[in-house]
Amino acid sequence: MVRTPQQFKEMQDIDVKTEHRVTKIDPKEKRIEVVDLSKSETQWVPYDKLIIATGARSRRLNLPGSNANNIFTLKDLQDGIRIRNYIDGKRPKRVAILGGGFIALEMCEAFRLRDLETFVFCRKDLPVGNLEREISEKILKELQENGVHFLTHHEPADFKTNGKDEVTTFETHKASYRVDMVLMAVGVIPNVELAKEAGVELGKTGAIRTDKAQRTNLDDIFAAGDCCEVFNLVSQDWVHTPLGDIANKQGRVAGENAAGGKAVFHGVVGSAAFKVFELEVAFTGLGMEAARKYGFDVDSQVIEAESKVGYMPGSKRMLIKLIFDRKNGRVLGAQMAGKEGVARRINSLAVALHQKMTIDEISRLDFAYAPPFSGTLDPILIAAEQAAKKIRRSP
Ligand SMILES: Cc1cc2nc3c(=O)[nH]c(=O)nc-3n(C[C@H](O)[C@H](O)[C@H](O)COP(=O)(O)OP(=O)(O)OC[C@H]3O[C@@H](n4cnc5c(N)ncnc54)[C@H](O)[C@@H]3O)c2cc1C
Repeated sequence: MVRTPQQFKEMQDIDVKTEHRVTKIDPKEKRIEVVDLSKSETQWVPYDKLIIATGARSRRLNLPGSNANNIFTLKDLQDGIRIRNYIDGKRPKRVAILGGGFIALEMCEAFRLRDLETFVFCRKDLPVGNLEREISEKILKELQENGVHFLTHHEPADFKTNGKDEVTTFETHKASYRVDMVLMAVGVIPNVELAKEAGVELGKTGAIRTDKAQRTNLDDIFAAGDCCEVFNLVSQDWVHTPLGDIANKQGRVAGENAAGGKAVFHGVVGSAAFKVFELEVAFTGLGMEAARKYGFDVDSQVIEAESKVGYMPGSKRMLIKLIFDRKNGRVLGAQMAGKEGVARRINSLAVALHQKMTIDEISRLDFAYAPPFSGTLDPILIAAEQAAKKIRRSP
């Protein structure tokens, strides 16, 4: 949709082969086995350098009835089109979403816009359970205000189907729910089978381990994107963070180096943003639990402030939680939720994390002020100042 194979050819002389599946990598002979799906023909194609960018696939729960034809996952455009066609054709009234992550939440909005009664089944007691409680509670409130039923501590057990192989009832270990369609949004699995079979090393997360030049352990084979791990600069650990901006940056580094360059992808601090109905949610760095796990002496500061001067039209309250190391005041993470000005604000804290700044240094930053954009003190500066005071007061 963004660019066609013809445009790739005309603009950059790149041959894009759609409908071609790679079925084997032979690193000894430096060749790949490719099936042309349109003709069902298989051939070996030689390479000088290879970049593996096979992405990730949606995880599916393996339960009785889980292959029914009204159970969907959402990973690519085709999945989205299938879901839309099903809604347009069958006019379902009730949908069950399994999972409480950001894809589940974004789909709540899409389903509610189509007037579907929406049930979210979540193992944890709050949505996006790896976010801080204060943020997840705001998300829950937004879901409930928009008519979403959020059901916690449900362990999925069974899908009861009718004669047309459609789920009609979703059963958990607690109760049964009549549903007309199901979305499984329970995470992704990196597509690493081809790489693994060829002898490419995987990391502890199960995704491909590369060095910072996106090189794998095998000569002339690079990897990038959702199939790979990425280095987290705050925790100093390799993690699997399947996000589009990371995939893009890793891809550029892998491409440049495959062409003989010396590019380096230093890593990420772990920033992301998403929207749940009118609520913007954004975070960067580590949460409290993760920070503790990595051995930091963790403390936090929560504040609520206006997104712009209170008398300006459209000003909205936002919540900010700053997470920092009590020992030296270094910022370790930040999470925000609010209905205005949240998603872009997180980027300044991502910069602070990259620079290993302290709370005190952040509180003294020279942010721009004008009433339509922020209060005299930006909410981030207020949060940092409060946190700095807390550090000064602590023994
Ligand atoms: C609903 C949704 C919303 C998202 N929103 C955001 C967002 O707001 N921000 C963000 O940063 N990220 C977001 N993401 C994540 C983002 O889409 C991914 O991180 C990104 O697409 C990863 O790019 P990739 O190239 O590594 O993998 P993919 O985009 O998955 O591409 C992998 C490609 O490899 C192909 N392939 C796999 N195996 C083979 C094979 N054997 N032979 C040939 N081809 C093969 C696949 O068909 C696919 O085309 C979202 C994802 C979803 C599903």
